[in-house]
Amino acid sequence: MIIAESCTERCLLAGLDHNAEIIGQITDIARDRKIKAAAFSAIGALTRADLGFYDQAGREYTVRAVEEPVEIASCSGNISLLDGQPFVHAHATLAGSSGGIFAGHLVRGSIFAAELFLRELPQANLHRMPDRQTGLKLWSEEQNVGVNR
Ligand code: ZN
Repeated sequence: MIIAESCTERCLLAGLDHNAEIIGQITDIARDRKIKAAAFSAIGALTRADLGFYDQAGREYTVRAVEEPVEIASCSGNISLLDGQPFVHAHATLAGSSGGIFAGHLVRGSIFAAELFLRELPQANLHRMPDRQTGLKLWSEEQNVGVNR
């Protein structure tokens, strides 16, 4: 188990840009504001999206395109560091006009309108490293020893 504890010091609400790519825009916010660790949620709507499903046996993502306008019924994620840069990890549940639900790892999405709530964890120092057991880039224990506070 990896736990990074931190007081919450900075929270922000952001209305994201129309037609921007949502993961890229959240990454830009983190980079511009020097945010290294955070948790966030977002609501709004996308004009299209790509959702990933991680094949645990094959150790690779299958990406499914959602080529229709969708509501962001739920989107939550976190920010930590990968190769020293802010890395956004987000999952989303998207609702189509006919009531269909699409959910998974949010690879990218084109913003129709979206509102972000982000809580920084300034003392957390989480670095993603390749994980042998899963093939994913997960928070590394070695990198985090002694840096929780
Ligand atoms: Zn994921």
